[in-house]
Amino acid sequence: MSDTSPNVGPPPPDVDATAIKEIASGVFVICDRRVPLVPNIGIILGQETAIVVDTGMGPANGKKVLETAKRLADKRTLVLTLTHFHPEHGFGAQEFKGVAKIHYNRAQRDELQAKGEAYLAMFKTFGPAVAAALEGTILVQPDWVYPGPSAKIDLGGREVELRTWGLAHTAGDQVVWLPEECILFTGDLAEERTFPIFPWFPPNDVDIDGAHWVEVLSELINWKPAVVVPGHGEIGGVEILIAVRDYIVDLRQRVRAERKTGKDSDAIVAELAPKIRAEHPDWFAPEWIDFAIRYHASLS
Ligand SMILES: [Zn+2]
Repeated sequence: MSDTSPNVGPPPPDVDATAIKEIASGVFVICDRRVPLVPNIGIILGQETAIVVDTGMGPANGKKVLETAKRLADKRTLVLTLTHFHPEHGFGAQEFKGVAKIHYNRAQRDELQAKGEAYLAMFKTFGPAVAAALEGTILVQPDWVYPGPSAKIDLGGREVELRTWGLAHTAGDQVVWLPEECILFTGDLAEERTFPIFPWFPPNDVDIDGAHWVEVLSELINWKPAVVVPGHGEIGGVEILIAVRDYIVDLRQRVRAERKTGKDSDAIVAELAPKIRAEHPDWFAPEWIDFAIRYHASLS
């Protein structure tokens, strides 16, 4: 991480439940405050049911989110869903088990089963604060899985659509869409003023499809969301999606051009990464530039 030392690691990835905003009537976001490894978390209320979108990382954060959701939900039934399986988005789900119905798409469930323990071990190497947050984490299974591309949940007077497309940022990315209000929760398919996260960790995890990611973002742009709640960063509008799509398209073209000159991935990183950093001086998490370049350099 750019703002941390490798010996100390990132700061504690603590969800601050007081950093909550009501972005529409009954639609709340616990904001990430730009803290690394803290996501934007949604709590959406209908008349009978409330749905929570992402938990934060580890049981203590999950507990904070659950307590906030219970307070807002009052007597409503609770549902938990995740934007994808990554630890900072979903590794607090154990606190919801038995209290909320946990709903994922099938690919997300399968990816969690296949990679969850390895990601838990990997994230524990990210420094003492991250390891402490993950202490006591238990991976739990969903109560319900939908097999197709989408599922609708009637919260009572408010419908929420869960939608997945298959491999992009992960194999099981899912957005949460409120069709009436045109509010979109994207998970890490889109982050605001943040270099897109390409979780390119060969040989352990190579499940990314950048071209499909671009197609998914193009479709989401066509939905004309009024409000975009990104996985990380500030809440905004459709410009968040456009910026991520354009970044990936541009990077893909530039890496392809460098490959044609015969450069290997190290040489392409050396050539392009400083330029890309300089072109986005106000973007966060520049450590992800190299991962995105190396992913694109791997394409045959
Ligand atoms: Zn992610």
